[in-house]
Amino acid sequence: MHPSKIVCAGRNYRAHAKELGSDVPSEPLLFLKATSSMITDGEAIQLPQWAGRVDFEGEIAVLIGSAARHVAKEDAWSHVAGVFPLNDVTARELQRSDGQWARAKSFDTFCPVGTPVPVAESDLAGLSVVTRVNGEIRQEGYARDMIFSLPELIAYASRAMTLREGDVISSGTPEGVGPLSPGDVVEVEIPGVGAVSNPVERDGG
Ligand code: ZN
Repeated sequence: MHPSKIVCAGRNYRAHAKELGSDVPSEPLLFLKATSSMITDGEAIQLPQWAGRVDFEGEIAVLIGSAARHVAKEDAWSHVAGVFPLNDVTARELQRSDGQWARAKSFDTFCPVGTPVPVAESDLAGLSVVTRVNGEIRQEGYARDMIFSLPELIAYASRAMTLREGDVISSGTPEGVGPLSPGDVVEVEIPGVGAVSNPVERDGG
């Protein structure tokens, strides 16, 4: 995957917004994650020595298959090539202290991605996402509980920026986020679609 941008939704599950002490947004809250943060299955997530707490965020993401600009939510899914698990790894303390999220979300290795698989729009509401740390379930979320559905997020983003073939949209994380430690293995799975599993290491830099 070589996206021109990774567009993520923040606070898109009520229970997760609550656990962070945040309000539920009345419109989608979008942010960008640097494409240079992407890694694939098996590559190590590197925790910066000085960055404080770093959390996993298991999410359902889509790969855009054809350019989308000003699309209606009813047409949005025709622009999707596939669905895959994404771990929106976040330096939580820096996210709070920076205000803007770009740095906290974009450290190298902070975006493990799985392999996109085509999913019919009619099957979308049945998708779930499960995050395990060292084999133990830490998050379990359901697409039907999203505040804004993936087609709504695609339509909303496309009114601001052209979504190009190859771009990534991630739909936010359910409740249960928590910190990673060196030596952990974190896995994000969308049952029936696929999983991405990554060891966690201390970064020397
Ligand atoms: Zn996220």
